[in-house]
Amino acid sequence: MNDFTYHVPTKVIFGRDTELQAGEAVRREGGHKVLVLYGGGSAVKSGLLGRVTGSLSGAGLEWEAVGGIRPNPLLGFAQQTVDGHRDAGFDFVLAVGGGSVLDTAKAVAHGLARPGTPIWDYYLGRAEVTASLPKGSVLTIAAAGSETSDSAVLTNEATGEKRGLGSERNKPQFAIMNPALTCTLPPRQTACGIADIMMHTMDRYFSVDTDNAFTDAVAEALLRTTVEYGRAAMADPADYKARSEIMWCGSLSHNGLTGLGQPKDFSPHALGHELSGMFDIPHGESLSIMWPAWARYVVGSGPARFARFGRNVWGLAREDDAACAAAAIAAVEGYFRELGMPVCFSQAEMGVQSDETLRELARRCSYCGSRVVGRFQPLREPELYEIYLQANH
Ligand code: NAP
Ligand code: FE
Repeated sequence: MNDFTYHVPTKVIFGRDTELQAGEAVRREGGHKVLVLYGGGSAVKSGLLGRVTGSLSGAGLEWEAVGGIRPNPLLGFAQQTVDGHRDAGFDFVLAVGGGSVLDTAKAVAHGLARPGTPIWDYYLGRAEVTASLPKGSVLTIAAAGSETSDSAVLTNEATGEKRGLGSERNKPQFAIMNPALTCTLPPRQTACGIADIMMHTMDRYFSVDTDNAFTDAVAEALLRTTVEYGRAAMADPADYKARSEIMWCGSLSHNGLTGLGQPKDFSPHALGHELSGMFDIPHGESLSIMWPAWARYVVGSGPARFARFGRNVWGLAREDDAACAAAAIAAVEGYFRELGMPVCFSQAEMGVQSDETLRELARRCSYCGSRVVGRFQPLREPELYEIYLQANH
């Protein structure tokens, strides 16, 4: 088995009506004055925000709520929130929403702890996150896994760059997860979430040095569960059982459990981030577009791994590794189609792109040629271009 460090400090409070425990949860973490962040309005419309702030008041806490965070959240919003609240004495940041609100909450928590450091410096690697306010969430969508993850993603609207930040200080103190809250998700968001959950495990599973048998078994079980209950949630949005299974998979998919001791690949994420940065398409769609093209480009580097994935996740029976690997890729693509997700550029809002744009995407994805992406098959700018080319139909 490979060596690893596993540290998930986030307390998970899971089940019906758990949002009513928000006040107690913040108080237990020592919070007194809470900055509550939310998105474009779904949490107001459903009455969730009122229940959460009522719980904060009930626990004797001061709070202020700031809304307006949009999907593919922006640096400008996070920085302005820090600048506008830096001297107000907040000691806890509570996200009510999905990955976009959570990632903004993480950035704001870092910013409020060290207001003199521009937030973007952390994302560019110019500064290290050495302090942050405690943070927690009331999650409303099963998708990003940010509620227990060590990462946060922001888009710099001035440059179109979408960048991730990995840090122990990104790990929230608690996650309140009531699956019933996700029953109001539109089908497109449910499907995007399913794709993202699958990808957080697949971007770990397709790696090198995969020697931890139990970790592989957990990854495969998580994927089978997500596929099955993803289908059920799409068929019946109010299916609580389905919503709960995929919500729990969403958290475990991205807190390290499904890739212990092996380097993360995350090439499809890297390729997809540039699509969202340039065209503002939902994160899940960027992944369903890029994964099939990536998989077909790299499969030759490890057909046995793809074949195992085909047998253990998709129940394929073929004996020949190459044939099984090809069928596994087709199975994923078929599942994404079944969810109504795009699997190439023409099926997404942005449409087919010029060769010049593909080259620009590859340039950005390789950080102007300065980084090699992924581990399963390390990819440089020319290879990244080839993968964009494969998806551009
Ligand atoms: P999201 O962007 O937070 O939300 C997507 C949409 O769903 C919003 O329009 C939101 O509307 C709506 N929504 C959320 N909950 C709802 C509900 N219960 N009912 C109805 N509508 C609801 O979605 P996400 O997929 O969780 O987050 C995506 C972001 O996370 C991307 O930027 C992605 O890159 C990032 N990400 C982060 C990590 C990480 O570990 N940090 C990992 C993967 C992805 P309202 O705004 O009106 O609420
Ligand atoms: Fe993701």
